[in-house]
Amino acid sequence: MGEKRKPNMSPVKVTMPEQPAEIRRSNFGEVALGYTAEMAMEEATRCLQCKHRPCVKGCPVNVRIPEFIAKVAEGDFLEAYRILSSTNNLPAVCGRVCPQEKQCESRCVRGIKHEAVGIGRIERFVADWYLENAKDKLVPPPCNHRKVAIVGSGPAGLTCAGDLAKLGYDVTVFEAFHVAGGVLMYGIPEFRLPKALVQSEIKLLSELGVKIKCDMVIGRVFSLDELMEEEGFEAIFIGSGAGLPSFMNIKGENLNQVYSANEFLTRVNLMQAWRWPEAATPINIGKRVAVIGGGNVAMDAARSAQRLGADEVYIIYRRSEEELPARLEEVEHAKDEGIIFKLLSNPVEILGNDAGWVTGIRCISMELGEPDASGRRRPVAIPGSEFDIELDTVIVAIGQSPNPLLRDTTPDLNCHSWGGIIVDDTLATSKEGVWAGGDAVTGAATVILAMGAGKQAAASIDEYLKAKHEEV
Ligand SMILES: Cc1cc2nc3c(=O)[nH]c(=O)nc-3n(C[C@H](O)[C@H](O)[C@H](O)COP(=O)(O)OP(=O)(O)OC[C@H]3O[C@@H](n4cnc5c(N)ncnc54)[C@H](O)[C@@H]3O)c2cc1C
Repeated sequence: MGEKRKPNMSPVKVTMPEQPAEIRRSNFGEVALGYTAEMAMEEATRCLQCKHRPCVKGCPVNVRIPEFIAKVAEGDFLEAYRILSSTNNLPAVCGRVCPQEKQCESRCVRGIKHEAVGIGRIERFVADWYLENAKDKLVPPPCNHRKVAIVGSGPAGLTCAGDLAKLGYDVTVFEAFHVAGGVLMYGIPEFRLPKALVQSEIKLLSELGVKIKCDMVIGRVFSLDELMEEEGFEAIFIGSGAGLPSFMNIKGENLNQVYSANEFLTRVNLMQAWRWPEAATPINIGKRVAVIGGGNVAMDAARSAQRLGADEVYIIYRRSEEELPARLEEVEHAKDEGIIFKLLSNPVEILGNDAGWVTGIRCISMELGEPDASGRRRPVAIPGSEFDIELDTVIVAIGQSPNPLLRDTTPDLNCHSWGGIIVDDTLATSKEGVWAGGDAVTGAATVILAMGAGKQAAASIDEYLKAKHEEV
């Protein structure tokens, strides 16, 4: 510890060890295996410690990146964790699933000519090191007895809860599922984000005083008004995500063996279908599976289907490879594992037998026309180019929107027609004392953007409650 290392001017990141594709395609163990201490220190010395800290500006939760990396370079991992966790409540999660290439690493000066510093990889190392080596329990700050309710325990809710608990608020998170974590638990598969790690980071929040109540569907068990008027909460943050799957509305979508990616991944992750027969919930997918869509959710569903034993897994996407919305790394991993990409193809009908089970899918070939409102070239069907693929299972992964329950049970909560909650610049909703953020406001986005919103809302709630109590 404390030893000054020479700057490492290597143009490329220290390689992250990973399970070989031919082995990992049939197990749910983590794909990327993480840095050793030596590798983390080696990568940390690639950081130039820029005075103007461009990487920090690329991080929605303002992690003090050069500071924590400097400590890693010195071998002082505990201090590195303290710095990292002072602004990020879920660093083991972020080190694994953040699209760093579009955030902090996209601003890294080393990245102008060569590869950026592996900020995410170093972050993951520090968080894992702490979870393995920390001996002392966290000590909650003195409680100010002002109660704040958080609806939803995804990254937005957990971040808001953690930040408020650190400020001394009495925070309770209400979660509809039987386990906390949101998409981190029910969506992102084990091989990208081990569930035990998510629970370890949530446990640290509990040590800070955050209370988590599962199996509590707000809008059913309590309305927002009841939380405030009867349960004594002075402020509420809604981080209820975007868990309502979209469908294509084509013929055959009601056949047996058509899943939404949401249901499929929930069964695999949360109900641990991948551990069947040890676990109670099996999932039958057969040998030929097609996943419709080209985002991270589609990649996760396809790679999970392969690991469950399918021989042929297709990704069917209506644009070309260039427009695939999934992270490049996920696309590369999927390809290495043998997922078959049917690009420029759009499903027109899901085919079935008389008993009502999927037998295949009919698609039409597409070509790219002029750019549409999203700036991407519009896919246009080529007349007469229909083709069929024989299948046992179809998984639809074309998007999600916010669940309507809260807006339906809260008349004074203004929402967009597509379901997103309307907020102002401070993330306050139309309802007094209620803030919202994450996917419930933006529609399906990313973990770190949801965390950024949770952080901003926590600061707004703190300001609101301080002002309210000064007035009294
Ligand atoms: C399969 C999949 C893979 C993804 N991969 C990535 C990735 O690699 N990187 C990345 O950055 N992002 C990824 N994302 C997106 C990311 O996970 C989300 O943007 C993020 O989780 C949103 O966080 P949130 O807190 O807003 O909502 P969520 O994580 O959706 O959490 C919302 C929580 O609220 C609960 N809830 C809903 N309604 C109620 C209610 N009425 N009462 C109580 N509780 C309620 C839900 O059960 C849920 O637990 C992925 C998403 C999916 C689905």
